[in-house]
Amino acid sequence: MRRLPFGALLAAASLTTAPFSAFLYGTREYVGVGDIWRYPVVAVCAVVATGVGVSAILGRSAGTRTGLVLGWVVFALFWYRDVGAVMDRQLAFTAIPGELAWVLVLIAGIMVIHLFAGVSTFLRAGLLFSLTMAGLPLIQYGFVSLTAETGSTERFDAVSAEAWQSRPDIYYLILDGLGRADVLEEIYEIDLTEFIDGLDHEGFVVADRALSAHPMTWLSVPAVLDQEYQAYPGSRGRPATHFRTNRIMSGDSRTHDELAGQGYRFVTATEGSGPFCDLELSPIRDLAKCLVQGNSMNAAIRVQLAWMTPFYGLANRGLLPAGVIGWLEAEDLRWTDEKRKGGTFLVGDVLEAVKSVRREHGQVPIFVLAHMMHPHPPYLLDSECRPSSHAGFRASVDAWDDLVGLRMGVDCTRKQILQLIDSISQDAIIVLQSDHGPGRGELLGSDSVAEIPIEDLWTRSSVFSAVRLPEKCRDQVSDTYAGVNTFIVVFNCLAGTQRRLEPQYSYWAWYADRNVVDVTSRLRQYEVERVRS
Ligand SMILES: [Zn+2]
Repeated sequence: MRRLPFGALLAAASLTTAPFSAFLYGTREYVGVGDIWRYPVVAVCAVVATGVGVSAILGRSAGTRTGLVLGWVVFALFWYRDVGAVMDRQLAFTAIPGELAWVLVLIAGIMVIHLFAGVSTFLRAGLLFSLTMAGLPLIQYGFVSLTAETGSTERFDAVSAEAWQSRPDIYYLILDGLGRADVLEEIYEIDLTEFIDGLDHEGFVVADRALSAHPMTWLSVPAVLDQEYQAYPGSRGRPATHFRTNRIMSGDSRTHDELAGQGYRFVTATEGSGPFCDLELSPIRDLAKCLVQGNSMNAAIRVQLAWMTPFYGLANRGLLPAGVIGWLEAEDLRWTDEKRKGGTFLVGDVLEAVKSVRREHGQVPIFVLAHMMHPHPPYLLDSECRPSSHAGFRASVDAWDDLVGLRMGVDCTRKQILQLIDSISQDAIIVLQSDHGPGRGELLGSDSVAEIPIEDLWTRSSVFSAVRLPEKCRDQVSDTYAGVNTFIVVFNCLAGTQRRLEPQYSYWAWYADRNVVDVTSRLRQYEVERVRS
């Protein structure tokens, strides 16, 4: 045991972990520890095991060098894009290509380690550096995510509220990232006229001025389900953690509460990431059936990690074995076909789940929540909702610039909706609503709302929103129907009540920005000007 260089191995393990903890903190809005832990664990095990093996065979000093060099190589691999960016921006005058600069940095690091690995001050400094690089983002992440309140685990009482006049099935389709019809037409040249006329004909009211309560899923969907804004301008701001919003999405919401009180059961369809089917703490866990299929998020995470390294370019040039390329491109997670089960769910799968609840529980009313990623990047499906492999595909949740994919995603979504309408009862309530629009232009990189051009704000904040209610209630649906009023309107209709609607705002909250800004009047004014010009 005395032969093992513990300090150096710890430094190597920290260097190996550092890129992943930085990635975790940087993408904390949608990536959790559970999504990525396997990558650092495998990498650290490989590095440490090699270091231990070399120490055992060749002695302590060889083990020290090997461990540190391997840790440094992993660290540098994920530094590849940053080195390239620095060369492009700050050191462009040197005319050294980014790839070459990276190789030089890599070799310089290896040489430094080789020369100084025996010096104890160097080792101590290296350990301090690597622990900081690995630990600091984790501590920050912990502050943001893990200091959450612990919640109660109560369940809903059995039917207690006054019974509604009618209790039809309710389908709530969250069309993640689908643009409003006018946005799709003016920004993306996608014409939904025929589709909207069809919805009209089926008894839908399409709210053509709808705005989302907030521009991000984890805020806007809870606003709908809890019938309340989740982030406010001014001192109240936005939630510090996802704890409460995740609980709402998993079923601890005012909407679920009211439905459970009326004897509804729940069918939730979602992909393998996200909180909708995380029912452990949810009061509906005994009432719910979950359909979890596909995992475009994990696919996107792997491709994003690969993109940070030189392997991405090598794979693109076909310089790696086919199996490795396929893994780096996350083919195993992106989609499946008849041969490989487990691709994302489609309407047919949802209907199957509904049927199975009916078989088990008889004629109970059912609330279906389907979180559909079809119109959201990465665009995995073609216009017919079959696995797509179009040119320009990027397996990232940020790939809004994949316009071929976007168009196909809209097509697929449209067909899925029509199939649903055709397959279910005429009496069923259907809410078709996006949680936000596409992420266009400068949006993703911007730190504050002031940096975002108004056209991009409008693209993101406007949502597709349509609802089919019983005929007597259709004139109660306004052209801004969405957000916190979504289910107040539905329940007013079913219960025959007159609950007052909330004022319809769009409260902007964005990834890196702590500020919450009311953009409603800016958007409304912009719409007026757009129509005029
Ligand atoms: Zn979303």
